[in-house]
Amino acid sequence: MMAINAQGYATQSATSELIPFKFERRGPRPGDVAIEILYCGVCHSDIHSARNEWGRTHDPLVPGHEIVGRVTAVGNQVSKLKAGDFVGVGCVVDSCRSCHSCNEGLEQYCDNGFTGTYGSEDKIGGTPHKMTLGGYSDKITVEERFVLRIPANLDPAAATPLLCASITAYSPLKHWKVGAGQKVGIIGLGGLGHMGVKLAHAMGTKVVMITTSPEKGEDAKKLGADDVLLSTNADAMKEAENSFDILLNTIPVGQDVDPYMALLKRDATIVVVGAVDWSKWHSIHLPSAFYGGFADRRIA
Ligand SMILES: [Zn+2]
Ligand SMILES: [Zn+2]
Repeated sequence: MMAINAQGYATQSATSELIPFKFERRGPRPGDVAIEILYCGVCHSDIHSARNEWGRTHDPLVPGHEIVGRVTAVGNQVSKLKAGDFVGVGCVVDSCRSCHSCNEGLEQYCDNGFTGTYGSEDKIGGTPHKMTLGGYSDKITVEERFVLRIPANLDPAAATPLLCASITAYSPLKHWKVGAGQKVGIIGLGGLGHMGVKLAHAMGTKVVMITTSPEKGEDAKKLGADDVLLSTNADAMKEAENSFDILLNTIPVGQDVDPYMALLKRDATIVVVGAVDWSKWHSIHLPSAFYGGFADRRIA
């Protein structure tokens, strides 16, 4: 199948700006979906990667894994999508499809290593590029398994954060069965925290924004937070001890987690979803919850 000419924005080094970049996408194989990209969210991972903060960036890097677009063509084995459909592509575009995790719809834990939407070794090929290239571009070709339908009643531009930030916040809230009568603390108000507040509010919980910034606390209230806990206020932190059913920690850098542990009720859970550099984690190691599997992602 003929390759497709695409255009995007790429970094050429850890300090370069994003500059226009022409490249190729593979032509659709029988199970593939060719997509015209209409919108792409900006995830903090894009910045970590563009600046090589995790030490594994291969330039040229085309970031972007909160992709919303329109299907332009499908291979003859594609059954659920057709040209014209609105679709989304998140953080994963390939996995082994046969291991224990893939069989459970948890492709992000693929025993053989999932392929990220950008910056991963492209095991499918069909282009001159060794690494996958992301959504800061005009076209992408993805296997149907990793393409999600975007319902017609969603604003396609506003839907982009659902593909990474939102599923990352939603998945643990669902996994730990968050609901009415519970008190949920969202630590940090960036992209993940923003979605965490909205989702926990929609799930009927009492939502507390935990932040160092009174201004962010006010923003969180506008998004649905019931209360604000300033983590710099020792008295308020003391008073809030032993009161939370779950804490969703969205801070994207290494940190001292001990002050938050005291806020938890007995047997309660803290979930770390910020893409932290574990080598700079100042305190204990905790299991981190990686963004949700495709079983959680299918919303329509
Ligand atoms: Zn992301
Ligand atoms: Zn697998």
